[in-house]
Amino acid sequence: MGPDYPFGEWLRAHTLNAQGVEHLIRAWTQPGFGADPDQLSLLFVLHYIACSGNETTVGTFERNSDTAGGAQESRFVGGSQRVPLELAKRLGRRVALRAPVTRIAHVDGGVRVHTRRGVVKARRVIVAAPPKQVLGIDFAPGLPAGRRALLQQLQMGRLMKCDAVYDKPFWRDQGLTGFGISDNGAVRAAFDNHVADTGHGVLLAFVGGSTWAQYGTRSLAERRAAVLQGFASMFGEKALRPIEYAEHDWTRERWTGGGPTAIYAPGVMTTHGHHIRTPFRRIHWAGTETSTYWTGYMDGAVRSGERAAAEVLEKR
Ligand SMILES: Cc1cc2nc3c(=O)[nH]c(=O)nc-3n(C[C@H](O)[C@H](O)[C@H](O)COP(=O)(O)OP(=O)(O)OC[C@H]3O[C@@H](n4cnc5c(N)ncnc54)[C@H](O)[C@@H]3O)c2cc1C
Repeated sequence: MGPDYPFGEWLRAHTLNAQGVEHLIRAWTQPGFGADPDQLSLLFVLHYIACSGNETTVGTFERNSDTAGGAQESRFVGGSQRVPLELAKRLGRRVALRAPVTRIAHVDGGVRVHTRRGVVKARRVIVAAPPKQVLGIDFAPGLPAGRRALLQQLQMGRLMKCDAVYDKPFWRDQGLTGFGISDNGAVRAAFDNHVADTGHGVLLAFVGGSTWAQYGTRSLAERRAAVLQGFASMFGEKALRPIEYAEHDWTRERWTGGGPTAIYAPGVMTTHGHHIRTPFRRIHWAGTETSTYWTGYMDGAVRSGERAAAEVLEKR
């Protein structure tokens, strides 16, 4: 049997204290994929880890999961949305907002891209929408069967972020980092989400995969109570009394349909995965899922745009 079978199955077959290790790994897959080990193909997880590097540094589990020296090390002051906002500023009027693409048709020597705000003619087009959203576009001629099958079988992860704001980061007084993982309750992975210039403390919980299925579907009040209880079990009773609580559920996002990325269930990668970057006539594909480094991350999204742009330039 090749490695395109459930990651959870592999974990249980190859680890001592399999149950404990699976709990531990779930605290990585739920925030990292919005999924549990049994929903993920082992081959996909290996690919994801191998992608956590670059042209000169090999990808490792540590680079993917660690804070110091790993993917969680740096934050954007002002939030990561500054990246697209700054880029949009430079592009000016070429950025069309509130213009979802509904149809892409090949015409003589080019493409016509239909949006709610009009039609754009171009020689080539790069589509960077997440897989499920691509399926919502009417392509003429229709997409090849292999690509359609891939898009149909890729699922978005299920993930939400829950933040509790406190007067100050009280956990630091006890020498605690604000990072925690747990094998039960609503908070399986917590981070210190402190914003430097306010002085307030913020604890962040990722609620993903089966934990999302359990708590993401509850009322706000029930989920808030469960999340605060989770923080309290890690950092003490003070966590039960935030001055504010906020949350965001990516499964409700119309234009992404979940997050942090699309996931491959067992069997999908070996059957259809090779279609992920193959251009279809004058249509090229970008988006983090198409990247060979840091797929699933913003870095991968940027790299995919550079690769697709190079493809287009080569064809001119
Ligand atoms: C909770 C959470 C935490 C994360 N944390 C991190 C992190 O710490 N570090 C990190 O690097 N990454 C993180 N990510 C992942 C990161 O957000 C993604 O990898 C990145 O946003 C992918 O970029 P993208 O351009 O491929 O897709 P997206 O950012 O999803 O952009 C796709 C765009 O396509 C648009 N679109 C969809 N359909 C259409 C249509 N029909 N017409 C026109 N436009 C359309 C959407 O509106 C959207 O703007 C996180 C994600 C989530 C959900």
